[in-house]
Amino acid sequence: MLTENQIWQYLEEVTDPEIPVLTVVDMGVVRQVEVSAEGATVQITPTYSGCPAMNEIEQNIRQKLKEEGLEKVKVETVLSPPWTTDWMTEKGKEKLRAYGIAPPEGSSADKSVLFGKPKSVQCPNCGSKKTELVSQFGSTACKALYKCTSCLEPFDYFKCI
Ligand SMILES: [Zn+2]
Repeated sequence: MLTENQIWQYLEEVTDPEIPVLTVVDMGVVRQVEVSAEGATVQITPTYSGCPAMNEIEQNIRQKLKEEGLEKVKVETVLSPPWTTDWMTEKGKEKLRAYGIAPPEGSSADKSVLFGKPKSVQCPNCGSKKTELVSQFGSTACKALYKCTSCLEPFDYFKCI
């Protein structure tokens, strides 16, 4: 019989389909893990609505736990409270930066960042804060495209919601 802690450890190995350096735990997508005689229940909260990755995340979780010998896995989607970038772990934000994507700055409770327009976004390449918004939509709707005016590199910024 697996413990909840073990399942959390396995989930640390399930990566986000869109950002492969982040795990579903880094993203703050996993709400709760429960183990009972009937099997395991994993509760997840979708990130950005309309991100097609959620189905894939659910399948990846199911597959990973099956590989670990857990046959009965129920993945439940919890919509309330909605996911915000505040749930992303600090470790996750560091991994994003190392991957070349500027992590969300500040908190979603800050109105100025609510629409994906923070005061300053740090360039993940050189660390400069002299950056400018190029487009509200980067490679996906979840990200905005920025350009660094110091090193001139374009980069994705993971928007705050
Ligand atoms: Zn730069």
